[in-house]
Amino acid sequence: LDELEARLVSASRVVDLHRRLETRTAALLDDTTRLFAASRTDALTGAGNRLRFDEDVETMLSRAQRYGHPCSLALCDLDYFKSFNDTLGHVAGDEALRRVAEAMRNNLRASDTLYRYGGEEFVVLLVEQSVGDAVRAMERMRTAIERLSIPSPRTGGALTVSIGVAQVDPSQDATPETWIERADGCLYDAKHRGRNRVVPEPPPPSKR
Ligand code: GH3
Ligand code: MG
Ligand code: MG
Repeated sequence: LDELEARLVSASRVVDLHRRLETRTAALLDDTTRLFAASRTDALTGAGNRLRFDEDVETMLSRAQRYGHPCSLALCDLDYFKSFNDTLGHVAGDEALRRVAEAMRNNLRASDTLYRYGGEEFVVLLVEQSVGDAVRAMERMRTAIERLSIPSPRTGGALTVSIGVAQVDPSQDATPETWIERADGCLYDAKHRGRNRVVPEPPPPSKR
């Protein structure tokens, strides 16, 4: 009986140890999940950060190359934002960035993702959307930002955004860089044509 009792005590200790280990492992897993999400989120706007964008754009490009799915990328840059900061201050600038990001998120489809690309630049990855679909989606977003009516010291009107849109081209885009560069070229055009507009890449000659 003594031996049995001793064995039961030791067994119950082992069970207790296992339980505590289980609780610890679950808490550790929770922390890891939270840290993983935080390391891929922009602290100011809650949008995906550059690290998350770099990972997601690679995945999207691989899918496009393998399955030929259309997907588009929109590069967005706030208009005259330096003047906004210089006139109204950095705190007001940060608040404007938060509000713009919120308006963008509210106008996204669930399958599309918003990222802060850097400074006052955002990028949207639009899954299963040709350049035409993406332009319509981004036009809604552009209007939503204008309707926030955040005053722009430089223009005297509302704070606006310029947007360049490019569709992935699996035959041409070996890496995301060429895809992003095409969207950047369109953004450059949007700025030069007067800002507050969405500019898509022109269709390639074969698709005309
Ligand atoms: P453009 O229409 O040509 O884009 O003009 P711009 O003034 O927006 O030009 P530019 O891209 O050179 O200016 C970006 C400015 O955005 C610089 C800086 O004052 C502001 N900015 C960038 N990141 C942040 C940020 O995290 N917070 C705040 N408040 N301002 C930022
Ligand atoms: Mg900029
Ligand atoms: Mg700008």
